[in-house]
Amino acid sequence: MIQKIAIAGAGISGMSTAYVLQKKGYEVTVFARAFSPLITSNKAAAFWFPYHIRNDKRGVDWCTTSYRYYQDFMKDPSTGISMHQLLKVLRQGEEEEEPIWKEFMPAGSFGEVEPPELPSGVARMYDVQVPLIETQLFLPWLHDRLREAGVQFIQTNLDGFEQLSEDFDLVINCTALGSRELCGDETLVPVRGQVGLLAPGPKLPIYLDNEMPLYVVPRKDAIIVGGTYEPHELNEQTEPPTIERILNNAYQVFPELKQQSVIGSWAGLRPYRPDIRLEREQGTNIIHNYGHGGSGFTLAFGCAEGVGKLVDEGLLKRVV
Ligand SMILES: Cc1cc2nc3c(=O)[nH]c(=O)nc-3n(C[C@H](O)[C@H](O)[C@H](O)COP(=O)(O)OP(=O)(O)OC[C@H]3O[C@@H](n4cnc5c(N)ncnc54)[C@H](O)[C@@H]3O)c2cc1C
Repeated sequence: MIQKIAIAGAGISGMSTAYVLQKKGYEVTVFARAFSPLITSNKAAAFWFPYHIRNDKRGVDWCTTSYRYYQDFMKDPSTGISMHQLLKVLRQGEEEEEPIWKEFMPAGSFGEVEPPELPSGVARMYDVQVPLIETQLFLPWLHDRLREAGVQFIQTNLDGFEQLSEDFDLVINCTALGSRELCGDETLVPVRGQVGLLAPGPKLPIYLDNEMPLYVVPRKDAIIVGGTYEPHELNEQTEPPTIERILNNAYQVFPELKQQSVIGSWAGLRPYRPDIRLEREQGTNIIHNYGHGGSGFTLAFGCAEGVGKLVDEGLLKRVV
């Protein structure tokens, strides 16, 4: 018998969870106060790369599982996902992150640029193949596929999970920063990211230099140039001097970008938590899946599979 599941939240965490659970045959309803494009997930760059998940060993599995999902999705160009070259730069004296990000990479997906070809000031440069997820295309695509498969979407502002817990066999909490209030979780904090947008055009790699800091992401609708990492900052307005500084960083590395007109900017709030919360809350029928920080797309489908395993276990216990 199909079991009824409520998912709270319609960002990439909620939508990927809906996708996995619907495929498993569960009857899924998604509740959210906002949907794409009015959510943080639309503010992501969004390329696959493990970022700030160093404390979480489970991340290796989640990241590599998501990578495989994106490889599968990209067989259909209408998903807006494609494989892209990423150049990851380490500056002189810069420490490699722990655990080394390479642990997260599928075998054969990266190499290293030889020293004679390195730009000045660059100690190492990795050449990596990563999925680029064009959020403006993928989120609507995913939404449409879920609707066609019978997933219901209901707009509502939740102030707790009691009602959903009563009405559904299980509730999956994917409300990201909403969980600060819904769960009283103060370990979850906003980390603002500001980006500038340039007119699309030149063929570029994705470029990532945490030290500068700079990332450049050439999408079909814009070249996204980031960015900032501002903990506890809740204001979603961008600051013109900050955007100017970010763009100047990009012009240093890619002078040809000066030819591209500036077409906008935005800021989004990453839902950062020291450890991602993916667990069933004891004594309840609630599973939490939130706190993905700056890696929500990188982790999404791996975490959704993790939820799927807990759901299978949870429902078996209820039936017995
Ligand atoms: C500038 C920037 C660049 C980024 N780049 C990347 C990148 O390149 N790669 C990457 O992997 N990640 C990137 N990220 C991170 C990524 O955007 C997030 O990790 C991801 O979007 C989190 O998804 P989510 O579904 O958990 O949250 P959200 O997208 O915030 O969705 C939360 C959902 O919960 C709902 N909700 C919340 N509270 C309530 C409530 N009380 N009642 C009802 N509904 C509620 C919201 O309405 C929404 O539908 C970036 C983030 C930023 C800001």
